[in-house]
Amino acid sequence: MPDSDSLSLSGEVALVTGASRGIGRSIALELAAQGADIGVNYTSSADSAEEVGARIRDIGRRAYVVQADISDSDAVTAMTKAVTSELGAPTILVNNAGITRDMLAMRMKSADWDAVVGTNLTGSFLTTQSVLRGMLRARKGRIITIGSVIGTVGNAGQANYAAAKAGLAGMTRSLAHELGSRGITVNLVAPGFIQTDITADLSDEVIGNVMQRIPLERLGDPSDVAPLVAFLAGPGGAYITGQVIHVDGGMVMS
Ligand code: NAP
Repeated sequence: MPDSDSLSLSGEVALVTGASRGIGRSIALELAAQGADIGVNYTSSADSAEEVGARIRDIGRRAYVVQADISDSDAVTAMTKAVTSELGAPTILVNNAGITRDMLAMRMKSADWDAVVGTNLTGSFLTTQSVLRGMLRARKGRIITIGSVIGTVGNAGQANYAAAKAGLAGMTRSLAHELGSRGITVNLVAPGFIQTDITADLSDEVIGNVMQRIPLERLGDPSDVAPLVAFLAGPGGAYITGQVIHVDGGMVMS
């Protein structure tokens, strides 16, 4: 096991929302491998979140597993308070938790609009707000939010999801302006199609259509996303802020 003091994130505390499964799980494990202690947030998958926490402790880092629905502002306040008391104030925040409720706009229920915007957009804002006091006091912080290529190019059946993810890009740029002078960077990582529970139910036809738009000719894996998040959280990310960075096999090029 490497000496934790020699790792790029040693001494840092990272809060990762939605760390029980998929991309968030991979990010939590990667940040821990780079030396950070981790607040492992989940909303309903307690066993999976505990398993992530156990793996983090196995490699010699501290982990605090915390249930909170990020769309609930009181729950978010309590989560950050508990993480701060157990591990210290987060110096790294990864806004990863997200959901989909796909439907063509004509038939989309307002509850499905509200759920997706409330979790993906408002939840990320509430969580960001909850860690800001500690970061401002420390005069350092890394805020990395998981967006989506859909926020850039849109997708039929995902008006709610695309609106939330595009909103996160605007939030990221505004926060980068607000917080740059305080030593806090803010960036958005926008994955393409990554193999997780969110994409597990897509039909072969949809996957086939998606594949035609991916120059690297494969779907992504959570382990394709996590190293970029760790890079942005570490010393190499010190002069990068306000950016939207796609991790999508080349689907979206600008
Ligand atoms: P996933 O496998 O479905 O995992 C979602 C995670 O978010 C779970 O840990 C879940 O917790 C958590 N979560 C959901 N609602 C929550 C809430 N209200 N409060 C707290 N945690 C909540 O999804 P994923 O594919 O890894 O997606 C992770 C992020 O990447 C999302 O923001 C998603 O939009 C984005 N993304 C995914 C893809 C893709 O192709 N997979 C592409 C672009 C962007 P529980 O386990 O407790 O339910």
